[in-house]
Amino acid sequence: MFNKVELVKTVYKKGEYPSPLNAEIAFAGRSNVGKSSLLNKLFGIKIAKISSNPGKTRSINFYSVNNKGYLVDLPGYGFANVSKEEKKKWAELLEDYFVNRYSLQMIFLLIDHRHEPQKKDLEMIQWLRGLEIPFMIVLTKLDKVKKSERQKKLRIIQSELSKYGDYLYFPVSAKTGEGIGALKNEISK
Ligand code: GDP
Repeated sequence: MFNKVELVKTVYKKGEYPSPLNAEIAFAGRSNVGKSSLLNKLFGIKIAKISSNPGKTRSINFYSVNNKGYLVDLPGYGFANVSKEEKKKWAELLEDYFVNRYSLQMIFLLIDHRHEPQKKDLEMIQWLRGLEIPFMIVLTKLDKVKKSERQKKLRIIQSELSKYGDYLYFPVSAKTGEGIGALKNEISK
């Protein structure tokens, strides 16, 4: 499905985005939530860097898929040891992307399936809502949640987020591949 994947551009500065393609979907989430692992799993190749130093990647990475659309890797948030200056840069770059990138169609917001959404996740949801950017929720590291606990965990997260709106949820594991097919189908749509 995602046959030809290329890292087209790594953006550190506002506005320096590549020319739009037909589609554009971005992935957001806390550092360490499993975003790089998920992208690599979706692409079927190890192209996104798995963070040995979480929070370090401050760039927006544009991956073209079959030359038809971009899957965009947004810089992770919520890492503790980041200076105020760094956080400000992160917020400015993301805000510019969210506000000015008209080709952005949808965001997948990644949340760790094991935990309740954190303050920073809720802030991101409110930010996206305020900007009227549509998004869906991807619950990562599904393999780390016992099968018997999955429904319960899902319901807790859903009930927490239902305060903000009704969303689609995609539980996935980059490790076992569970849920990856369903997510790919949604992306293809
Ligand atoms: P990022 O900072 O959001 O890009 O997160 P990474 O993809 O670098 O993953 C952070 C850590 O979680 C790494 O040690 C990964 O191996 C691990 N990880 C990511 N996805 C999964 C998953 O689906 N299952 C398990 N068991 N571990 C995962």
